[in-house]
This record gives sequence, C-alpha cells and structure tokens, in this order.
Amino acid sequence: MPIDATLPYDDQNIFAKILRGEIPNQTVYEDDWALAFHDINPQAPLHVLVIPKGAYVSWDDFSNHAPAEEIAGFIRAVGHVARQAGLVEPGYRLLANVGGHGHQEVPHLHVHVFGGQPLGPMLVR
Ligand code: AMP
Repeated sequence: MPIDATLPYDDQNIFAKILRGEIPNQTVYEDDWALAFHDINPQAPLHVLVIPKGAYVSWDDFSNHAPAEEIAGFIRAVGHVARQAGLVEPGYRLLANVGGHGHQEVPHLHVHVFGGQPLGPMLVR
C-alpha cells in the first residue's frame, strides 16, 4: 500500500530499522550521509536503493527540510553508487517515488538506481 508522504516520520519503518542495524541488508556503499543496498525484490539486473542517514519521509520532506550539506552529501552518494557499479557509460535510471500517486511504499526517502540492461520507456502505458 502506498504511504501518505505528508505524515510525520515513523522511526519503525523498515529502512530506519536497516539504518539501526536491526534488519540485515546487502550494503554496496556507505558514507556519512547515505547507505546504499540491494533492493530485496530487484526490478532490473542492478537495482540498488540509496537512502539518507537522516530521518526524512520522502523527497519532498528532504528537499524542503534537509540542510544543504546533507543534500549535497546524499546526491554525491547516489552518483558514487552508479559510478561504482559501472553504470555511467551504459546508462542508468534514478527514481524516487513520492506518496500515493508515486506509489511510495516505505516512508523513508529512497532513490532507486536501476541499470544493467536497456530499461525501456520511462512509464508503462
Ligand atoms: P517504493 O515503492 O519506492 O517505496 O519502494 C520500496 C522498495 O523497497 C521496493 O522496491 C522493495 O522491494 C524494497 N524493499 C522493501 N523492504 C526491503 C528490504 N528489507 N531490503 C531491501 N529492499 C527492500
């Protein structure tokens, strides 16, 4: 079920538990600002999620409330993950679902990184 991205942050969400080490994950990158790990239900040959270490419900919350240093650190981490995976030359896709129409299911900001094959048109029609 998609979440309401206007609700306050819920520190019992699954990605908060991953950040606290309460649930295992397959980490591919970590720094002061971000954690990146393989999606548990991959939709492409490479499907990694990059999440900020701060408590932000969505892209809306993050872009509205995060300090500039945290935003810069997170964006750099997303770029690093794609470069580290060798995705720049073949190309890749980033996606951040927000709220109901975006079909966001986990209420902690995450950017999906997809790659490893031609990904086709942006949306299913
Ligand atoms: P979204 O619909 O944008 O909120 O995407 C949530 C994503 O989180 C989905 O692609 C799920 O497969 C993924 N996911 C949910 N639980 C886990 C988990 N424990 N470890 C890794 N990925 C997860």
